[in-house]
Amino acid sequence: MTHVSTDMELSEELVRKFDKLGPRYTSYPTADRFHASFTETTYRDYLDQRAGRTDNPPLSIYIHLPFCESLCYFCACNKIITKDHERVGEYLRYLDKEMALVASRIGSDRKTVQLHLGGGTPTFFSEGELRQLLAMVRTHFAFTPDAELGVEIDPRTVQPHTLSMLAELGFNRNSFGVQDFDPAVQQAVNRIQPLDMVEQAVVESRKSGFQSINADLIYGLPKQTLDSFSRTLDNLIRVSPDRIALYNYAHLPGRFKAQRLIFESDLPSAELRLQIFLMSMRRLLDAGYVYIGLDHFSKPDDELNKARLNKTLHRNFQGYTTRSECDLIGLGVSAISKVGNSYSQAVRTVSAYYQHLDAGRLPIEKGFELSQDDVLRRDIIMTLMCSAPVEFDVINRDYGIDFKNYFDAELLRLKPYEEAGLITIDASAIRVTPKGRLFVRASGMVFDKYLGQPTTSTYSKLI
Ligand code: SF4
Repeated sequence: MTHVSTDMELSEELVRKFDKLGPRYTSYPTADRFHASFTETTYRDYLDQRAGRTDNPPLSIYIHLPFCESLCYFCACNKIITKDHERVGEYLRYLDKEMALVASRIGSDRKTVQLHLGGGTPTFFSEGELRQLLAMVRTHFAFTPDAELGVEIDPRTVQPHTLSMLAELGFNRNSFGVQDFDPAVQQAVNRIQPLDMVEQAVVESRKSGFQSINADLIYGLPKQTLDSFSRTLDNLIRVSPDRIALYNYAHLPGRFKAQRLIFESDLPSAELRLQIFLMSMRRLLDAGYVYIGLDHFSKPDDELNKARLNKTLHRNFQGYTTRSECDLIGLGVSAISKVGNSYSQAVRTVSAYYQHLDAGRLPIEKGFELSQDDVLRRDIIMTLMCSAPVEFDVINRDYGIDFKNYFDAELLRLKPYEEAGLITIDASAIRVTPKGRLFVRASGMVFDKYLGQPTTSTYSKLI
């Protein structure tokens, strides 16, 4: 066992035993449970219920910008590969229509505390197009002065003034897709971006005033070795982003066509992946990063870690966040919204998206209305995902139940985790132990009542 910090312990033996296939719980119920009987009308009703009330939670806005210039073979995102930048103008016009429809129902004066541009490649958009997009969002939604504005950046698309322009538009957080610095790995996944390109972009971000810089790594990619990934970590630690996400590559060529371009014989074995993961965890923790949860690390003084320590950390579709419960408005193709006790997801293709908006309809394909039991279970699962204590008194008070009676079966199913020292259960709470922090997904799954039912999704393991 390695004791890497006072509140995090890493055990190879426990990883082998407790790392399970399971959802990542960016929502509960998970998106594979959404169904088409949740329609545009249902979503409109939820938006209307929020209008005109004074006790609404603030808004968080996600905009999906699906265009990319070239295909990364590992990609599982909803994207459109094209060199035709003319397509952006049309997409922007439809985003404007969608924003207008949403704002006309929910009210354009709702306090907006967060904006995130994801994709695809947001920086596929030109400077003028990004300016236009921000002007639109600001017309339809009222941002607070301290709002977090985040954007995903593909380093290959960064021009000399891209980052200062984004900062000038109000963006204060960014996230770089790094994945791996090794040239052989980059070649095998068709994403060539030399180290100095990323380093330069991070330096420019700091100079431009970005407050938080994230970098995504992926392990389990073709041609990776323990040595090659160790060099990638050396380089990234030197570049020193504020946050690092260490994702596990899930090879599902039956589901994601792009992944068929990866040679299976180039993929690291399960044992090698485990060794790469364990080495990476140790390296990041030894370098002074703290473990936030699942695949996320941050510097100790980052807001995410402060929120974790204050027990104010939350989880949503963008991963971990410091912002308290918000209504989430998703805009663009395949974007997910969470309004009141509902989730909804937009259609995946631009043609269907344009058709719905041309007909004056919100482009909803499916969704889910949560029952009181779903809301209760979501609360417990998300609390566990943030490694915070599930306090029985608080749950009993908030939901009018008797925890121990209501969840007697679940408490029994948690026994193996308790016996392995991953959680403790006493008269007042379930608490995640330092050893259990890596396995919160497994403890959370105990409270997921849909897990036994058929799903269209393929869950992954942590490692
Ligand atoms: S990984 Fe990002 S840049 Fe690459 S194809 Fe997917 S969405 Fe586009």
